[in-house]
Amino acid sequence: MERLSCEGGSWYVLDLPIDLLGQQAVAYSWSPPAAPALSSESSLFVNEEGFCVLVCDVDVAQTCGILCTLLLNEWRGKMSQEVKMISVDEALEYVMKHFEPLEPEEVEILDALDRVLAEDVYSDTDIPPFDNSAMDGYAVRAADTVGASHKAPITLRVIANLAAGYTTVLVVEAGTAIRIMTGAPLPAGADAVVRFEETSEGLPADERTDRRILDWEQGAWIEVFKQVIVGENVRRAGEDIHKGELVLAEGTILRPQEIGVLASLGRARVRVIRRPRVAILATGDELIGVDEPLAPGKIRNSNEYSNAALVQRYGGIPVRLGIARDDVEELTAKIREGLAERVDLFLTSAGVSVGDYDVVKDVLGAEGEMHFWQVRMKPGKPLAFGEIQGVPLLGLPGNPVSAMVSFEQFARPAILKMLGKTRLRKPTVEAILEEDVESSGRRSFKRAVITKRDGEYYASVTGPQGSGVLTSMVKANGLAIIPEGIRHLKAGERVTVQMLDWPENVACTEPVEVNEAPLVIPIISVVGKSEVGKTTLLEKLVAELKQRGYRVAAVKHDIHGFEIDRPGKDSWRLAQAGSDSIVIASPKRLALIKRLDREMALSEIAALLTDVDIILTEGYKRGDAPKIEVSRRERGRELLCTPDELVALVSDQLFDLDVPQFGLDDTTRIVDWLEGKFLSGGGQAPAG
Ligand code: AMP
Ligand code: MG
Repeated sequence: MERLSCEGGSWYVLDLPIDLLGQQAVAYSWSPPAAPALSSESSLFVNEEGFCVLVCDVDVAQTCGILCTLLLNEWRGKMSQEVKMISVDEALEYVMKHFEPLEPEEVEILDALDRVLAEDVYSDTDIPPFDNSAMDGYAVRAADTVGASHKAPITLRVIANLAAGYTTVLVVEAGTAIRIMTGAPLPAGADAVVRFEETSEGLPADERTDRRILDWEQGAWIEVFKQVIVGENVRRAGEDIHKGELVLAEGTILRPQEIGVLASLGRARVRVIRRPRVAILATGDELIGVDEPLAPGKIRNSNEYSNAALVQRYGGIPVRLGIARDDVEELTAKIREGLAERVDLFLTSAGVSVGDYDVVKDVLGAEGEMHFWQVRMKPGKPLAFGEIQGVPLLGLPGNPVSAMVSFEQFARPAILKMLGKTRLRKPTVEAILEEDVESSGRRSFKRAVITKRDGEYYASVTGPQGSGVLTSMVKANGLAIIPEGIRHLKAGERVTVQMLDWPENVACTEPVEVNEAPLVIPIISVVGKSEVGKTTLLEKLVAELKQRGYRVAAVKHDIHGFEIDRPGKDSWRLAQAGSDSIVIASPKRLALIKRLDREMALSEIAALLTDVDIILTEGYKRGDAPKIEVSRRERGRELLCTPDELVALVSDQLFDLDVPQFGLDDTTRIVDWLEGKFLSGGGQAPAG
């Protein structure tokens, strides 16, 4: 605060950043005072540098704070038509810039559910740790069962009974077997398990000819009806996870299955991104608590509860501050109370609409640096955003539906980003409108019931759409978005619908990031010697990725050249005539045939494939995309790639290499790993 000595006495000038006053102040043609006007009344000015100048008498210096508030209010009243009107996307982009993933913390694995892993988890053991039986049956030597059938059973002497959790020093010698339960370690000498159903133990009691297994000392016998091969019904040590393998990559969202894997690795605690603490403050003289009786003019404070529930749903920790009356002191005290709780985000509801004289705006303005916006959306037009003592604050509108819709659009992605998540967009579907809808021209979020019939989604609006009609949200499972500028849509037209209850981490059909680095589509090359099963592996990977909702492009490298258009076809004739590119387009498929005078690099090909989540190639050994090599025992042990070129190995033999290794049929795990490394991590492929 600066003291000015002017004719007529001493005056204080408060220089306040213009941000306090809303965005339009600079543009507002308010003539700057050459010198502060020395009137008996205190006054407020905006100068050319965008500073607000408050002039007041020395005697009222101590009440400056209050005076400032009052004056700002008056000024804003005059300016009310000038509050900045911005689009949902502009507001979101601005808001999201203020959030980053929070720091990691170590928690017990059950507390890590749905959170983002903040470390790479390697296995220090094989899982399973030992060869064990996959079935209840008899551990045998496969060679002993050659030719066994119902007509020609083979009789083996049973030397022990082995339950899961126990070991035996006995060895299965030729002609013997050990009765074994699922999960019990495969005894020495045995190399396969015959299921009970394929032995005389599986026969009805009256058909059994073997001696009942009651007394091991006296000897027991079993008849085997089926030949087994080495390894049959045996789970090999390390079959699930190899010692030293990267099992869960940093950035993975921990679902119940990942929690289970952590437990199986002996990890009781794990590092995950901390959960954001979110303060929730309801404001308004009309509000009473849920447990208070209604009184004239009063309504219950529902926003605190819907907001807290949303915070909880999206993984934040609600810090409930209750109700603040529309009173400067009470509001200021509540805001300070919230800040003392060390919150990462502050949410208020109500008191931010334009044109009214709510004290909320004034107090927020006085306590921090705030923008008061009108967002071109319906419901949810008024919105405030800024920072109070470094804590981002979102001032949500008061109307219960507006508060929820604004929360979904702005607070939800902020919370998810703080949690380290990268899929920030609400999952959406394209749906066909079941009735005509009217809209205001602002982006409208119509509460709708979405149903799926015959492979199509349909959207039906849930009755009255007033921003206070909370039951319109109760009935809805989606928000149908009527784009900006559209005032009328007819039944049968298509709209994008945000699905209210679908979790963000399901793969969705839209590009996912909000305000992230430009999307780089990961390219992964599957390489290997001929006949090792590259195409077979790719087929399985493509099918599994599609199953999980990703859009996949496959690029096949063909050194020998190929033809796809037959002589005489129109496309062939157009190629013969010299076209550089020919596109054959039908409603369902499209083919591009491009004449090349040199081989296109993988990156150039990728540039043509912009509408996919991942590109898998077969071949391109020399390209610089990350490589997965396929190897097969019968084609030898040498690898095509050097260890540093590889990101993973898929093989029926183990190599002493420091990269994840998978079996030839490990499709699910390979795709889990691809997802963790290349897809959920923001779609960004690592270098090399
Ligand atoms: P305002 O933004 O203060 O103009 O409030 C808009 C509307 O929302 C008014 O009808 C308020 O009564 C209502 N409202 C404000 N806060 C809450 C709340 N916490 N719970 C339910 N309704 C509210
Ligand atoms: Mg109010």
